[in-house]
Amino acid sequence: MESLRSDVVYLDNACTTLKPQDVIDAVVEYYKRPACHGRSAHALAREVNERVEEARERVARFVNAKHIIWTKNATEALNLVINGFPFRNKKVVTTILEHHAVLLPLLRRKDLEVKIIEPTLEAWEGVIDSSVDLAVTFAVNNTTGQKQNIKEIYKLCEDNGVKLCVDGAQAVPHLKTDYPYHYLCFSAHKMCGPTGIGALALSELDLEPLVLGGGTVKEVAIDRYTLLPHEAKYEAGIQHYAGIFGFAAACKFLEQVGMEQIAEKERSLRMLIDRALSEYITYGKGEVATAIFNLPNAPCHEVALMLDKKGIAVRSGYFCAQPGVMWLGAKEGTVRVSAYFYNNEEDIKVLGDALEEIALLY
Ligand code: PLP
Repeated sequence: MESLRSDVVYLDNACTTLKPQDVIDAVVEYYKRPACHGRSAHALAREVNERVEEARERVARFVNAKHIIWTKNATEALNLVINGFPFRNKKVVTTILEHHAVLLPLLRRKDLEVKIIEPTLEAWEGVIDSSVDLAVTFAVNNTTGQKQNIKEIYKLCEDNGVKLCVDGAQAVPHLKTDYPYHYLCFSAHKMCGPTGIGALALSELDLEPLVLGGGTVKEVAIDRYTLLPHEAKYEAGIQHYAGIFGFAAACKFLEQVGMEQIAEKERSLRMLIDRALSEYITYGKGEVATAIFNLPNAPCHEVALMLDKKGIAVRSGYFCAQPGVMWLGAKEGTVRVSAYFYNNEEDIKVLGDALEEIALLY
């Protein structure tokens, strides 16, 4: 747990988390015995093949998935779903509070009709019907820390023949993945793992690949090709094997800490955060330890820089969710504090004391 304390009060975990030594070791391990996966027959390559497939099984178990496809991050996984989905009616539903990783790929698809709703179950009930092809939404929000009732949204989708793509970037690290989905997108670096590696968990390999190339095909002629029938058809080119090893180590580490314990710790940190922010302007309600706020009359970036000077790391701005943050009423952005299970009561007290001092300046 040593590497899970930083020399600053680290409260920017929704951006990326700290890395335990086991994860760092797993990454280094690959570079000591490197080889390509799924290609050469020599011993080193066979070892990498085995470890990549073991990692796939571990990550799949962690999120209860039938299939895992390696991606660069949650963003790439979301782009793969949105661009590779076999649309019939070209109708998608999403919410106003999504990350740009959802909104931008949807907005770029000018051929799609995208209905944008408020993130409430009532709003979902009002729009999901059999004319919709795909619903894309967060399980936990990266601004307010709000949880959505994915079990109910999934049921609604299933009843209407709609596929549900869950943006799990902020959910998989914080809560047990005990909800159903058709597609689940997440990043290792937000759950104690390395950057540059993420995953798409899915129940059926029914998407068109985003990128084609080496490792994706069974047979190629000069005028045609046949894609492999399994996960490899989505993993073109040499992959981030060190990241994959680190991803599996991160899942193992979080399992050892216990996802229930993590969720419980975050609930109590969230209560402390809410108390520390109670005198200021807050936006929305949430359950995990991620919250946004402003000090009256204080520009958010100034507040974040002053906190930085006091050794406290937070983020400011729109958090890649500009329409959502503006919809919540923060036209000029906000400050975001995001704790994880290794933060403690003292960290939130230090934040609260610092904010009291800064607020006096405005
Ligand atoms: N979705 C949500 C809710 C996020 O918070 C983030 C990152 O902050 C992403 C998607 C994109 O994650 P990544 O940048 O790791 O692809």
